[in-house]
Amino acid sequence: MQQSNNASIILKPGREKALNRRHPWIFSMAIKSVKGKPELGETVDILDAQGKWLAAGAYSPESQIRVRIWSFEPNVAIDVEFFKQRISAAAQARTALIKDQQLTGFRLVAAESDYLPGITIDHYDHTLVCQLLSAGAEYNRHHIIAALDALYPEHNIYDRSDVDVRKKEGLEPTKGLVKGDEPAALTLVKENGVDILVDITGGHKTGFYFDQRDNRRIAGSFCKDKTVLNCFSYTGTFGIYAMKEGAKHFTNVDLSQSALDIAKQNIEINQLDMSKVDFVQADVFKLLRRYRDEGKTFDVIILDPPKFADNKSQLNGACRGYKDINMVAMQLLNPGGTLLTYSCSGLMASDLFQKIVADAALDAKRDAQIIARLSQASDHPIASTFPEGFYLKGLAVTVR
Ligand code: SAH
Repeated sequence: MQQSNNASIILKPGREKALNRRHPWIFSMAIKSVKGKPELGETVDILDAQGKWLAAGAYSPESQIRVRIWSFEPNVAIDVEFFKQRISAAAQARTALIKDQQLTGFRLVAAESDYLPGITIDHYDHTLVCQLLSAGAEYNRHHIIAALDALYPEHNIYDRSDVDVRKKEGLEPTKGLVKGDEPAALTLVKENGVDILVDITGGHKTGFYFDQRDNRRIAGSFCKDKTVLNCFSYTGTFGIYAMKEGAKHFTNVDLSQSALDIAKQNIEINQLDMSKVDFVQADVFKLLRRYRDEGKTFDVIILDPPKFADNKSQLNGACRGYKDINMVAMQLLNPGGTLLTYSCSGLMASDLFQKIVADAALDAKRDAQIIARLSQASDHPIASTFPEGFYLKGLAVTVR
């Protein structure tokens, strides 16, 4: 047994199995008792029912995920040095990617998938944007910021922890400047020779979706001389790749006018032909039907909707939503056209998503052939001990 001053969590008999497989979460039902009075987010030791030390993690009394593991090695202090090491390891793992794709914007730390539960850090040129989503991340905020400061002394640090999931951990949403200069209204990042403007303080998540980087490139390769409809476009970055590859015409659709305004600027700063790009502020569900009624068709359609399911009770509704947009999109495609369709709901399994697309094809009365299976970019890795880290799935489909 380990000697430490930490409070300890004793598991019910047999409930150590997930930890033995190094999964980083302990659910409330697995816990027999708590010894001591740990605060929200404080580091606790985890013991099996016989008292054997298993791991150290952060205590989160208000969440169903009661503990998130920091370390499976005994006697590891959770301090600035700990976070420096984990963040450096994440940075190291991304060096080749950053060089190959000439990135000034990327995900530096992907939470559980980089062995730092609840901590997301995105790198935008000279600003690091962090999201601290768990009680343990918040408890160690000063260590995390000190570690970032030591590793990236020249960088600004901005906090975008303004997300409701923090409430499940007993934390209020929060955001603001942590160090250095306030971000500009729009920050420029580069990937694969493409310029992208990001609204760090007001954009979605930490400002941008790096996870679709590979899929933007793949999408571009289908777009030469094609008419393209990009649904749920956000700031229109699929379109920059498509226009660079010589798309004939490109339509961005999003509910958010401010996202479309940035999409327009993105076309401008990449010196692409604005006369070939449309920006439509509309609800995709309604617009696809309107286009169908008008007999409008496209050669390529991209569907990258927001997460439709946050929990299991929303999964059925999510399936209906995915099927609906995929069905109507297929009906809008010219014969031999390409559908690039994605789901970023972690709860939606790949095989279920494929089945939904298959059902959509049947209802649309079209033949559909999957020609590529798509996933998240490699700065969003999937730790083998944390399969939940696989969330973004996509299919490239030829529709006849
Ligand atoms: N494809 C984007 C990311 C999409 S995020 C990229 O590569 O960057 C999802 C987007 O869908 C958000 O911009 C959100 O504003 C938009 N959105 C959500 N519901 C919508 C709806 N019903 N109709 C149109 N846009 C919607």
